[in-house]
Amino acid sequence: MKRISERAVKLNDADERPKADYVLYWMQMYKRADHNHALNFAIEKANDLGLPLLVYEGLKYYYPWASDRLHTFILEGVEEKREALRERGISYVFYLQKDEDSPKQTVKALAKRAAAIVTDDYPCFIIPAHNRAIVGKADVTVYAVDSNGIIPMSKFDKEEYAAYTIRPKINKILDYYLIPFEEIEIENKDAGIEADCPDTDCSAEMIEKLVAECDIDHSVPPSPIYRGGTANARKRLNKFVDEILPNYHKTRNKCEVDGSSRLSAYLHFGFISSLEAALAARDADAPKEAKDEFLEELIVRRELSFNFTKFNPKYDSLESLPDWARETMREHVSDEREYTYTAEELENAETHDELWNAAQREIVETGEMHNYVRMLWGKNVIAWTKDYETAFGILEHLNNKYGLDGRDPNSYAGILWCFGKHDRPWFERDVFGKLRYMTSNSTGKKFGSKQYIEWTRSLKDDPKLPPVFEQ
Ligand SMILES: Cc1cc2nc3c(=O)[nH]c(=O)nc-3n(C[C@H](O)[C@H](O)[C@H](O)COP(=O)(O)OP(=O)(O)OC[C@H]3O[C@@H](n4cnc5c(N)ncnc54)[C@H](O)[C@@H]3O)c2cc1C
Repeated sequence: MKRISERAVKLNDADERPKADYVLYWMQMYKRADHNHALNFAIEKANDLGLPLLVYEGLKYYYPWASDRLHTFILEGVEEKREALRERGISYVFYLQKDEDSPKQTVKALAKRAAAIVTDDYPCFIIPAHNRAIVGKADVTVYAVDSNGIIPMSKFDKEEYAAYTIRPKINKILDYYLIPFEEIEIENKDAGIEADCPDTDCSAEMIEKLVAECDIDHSVPPSPIYRGGTANARKRLNKFVDEILPNYHKTRNKCEVDGSSRLSAYLHFGFISSLEAALAARDADAPKEAKDEFLEELIVRRELSFNFTKFNPKYDSLESLPDWARETMREHVSDEREYTYTAEELENAETHDELWNAAQREIVETGEMHNYVRMLWGKNVIAWTKDYETAFGILEHLNNKYGLDGRDPNSYAGILWCFGKHDRPWFERDVFGKLRYMTSNSTGKKFGSKQYIEWTRSLKDDPKLPPVFEQ
């Protein structure tokens, strides 16, 4: 692997193909037609070689937690992207691999006519393995480009300990990176490349049928509230900036109102870039404290998670925790648990704790769980399962199965935060040891938990977001 710029690495030693029909951009996680450093890099490469660009995006049926919910959200963004790229003079092909009888190895097939492959440098879930696999299969240069955040991941050379260690480093260079994105135009415009790969029409009226035909988990329905795609992401961003951001510092912990951006699913699938959201917030008409708090979450906290999954190969296990956290858990693993629940009881929101059940209902019904109760949700699963590994496994599964924003660096950093990651030791107590402790009783008093619980009860029959906070 050779670094060739702050955002790009060359993953193999193969040369670019001298006689080729296009440059291939294999879009995996940055599912957008602009504000995309990988797309820009691919356009630059195509311009250097005088070639057109082919963007390929695929969706397979066998990735972990594949369901109607995740598939629908992804497919909702396909046709608008095809149109946006076509307008830019770029070809786009989308292939839905429905089951084991469907053609495979599409990237390898498309690579045969490509001068080079450009893909996304996303540090977790299935993407690192995809990138290793394509390097093994392709006989041309493969580049991976980081368009995850505002600061390139390469600006940090090791795992940061916590927000307080990464924050000053980010703040020192943020002004240089928090600037409008410069789009590069393709010179050899050709939006009609005949690709050697099936192309799936994902028009709105086709989506339900396509999803039904896939060999995926049909027990998790599409979100009745969140619709996929960049246009929907921008619609939500605009609403947030105009109506919610001015009070964000007062409402971000109020689960009973629509008081945060609810952009995490859009950011996860790359339908919108964090740069676009950060600039919109920075330039908005809102109090400084509201902007500062939002940018802290969107930049410092989010990029800390990317740093964690990039540099810690054990990011999806308790082994990635700091020594103090592992030690305290070792000391308390045999403590008696007052309540224990099975994975099924937790999934079905069948505990004695109405606030916890409400949080679980929110993610099951909508595909999202509010940050404030998400912390409590994780902490209580630690209290109610026989050991820490079991708790981690259940949290990972429920978060990634139901959350549209799951399977993300934030998923792992968020869940592991409940076990002490990016946190500090607190006072010693049963079961938790020195891990920070939260109870539904005290957390529930800090916001309108009664209204929140009622709202989650109404979701099945009347799925809609709670009202925006009014002063
Ligand atoms: C147990 C647990 C599991 C979590 N799982 C996920 C997950 O699967 N996916 C996910 O994106 N976030 C996860 N988080 C972090 C956080 O809860 C969500 O990012 C947040 O609720 C998203 O809501 P929002 O978009 O309205 O956030 P806002 O408050 O509007 O913040 C804007 C953006 O900043 C980022 N952000 C906000 N809070 C955090 C945080 N604490 N850490 C890192 N980035 C943050 C997100 O990208 C978010 O969209 C988890 C946290 C916990 C405690």
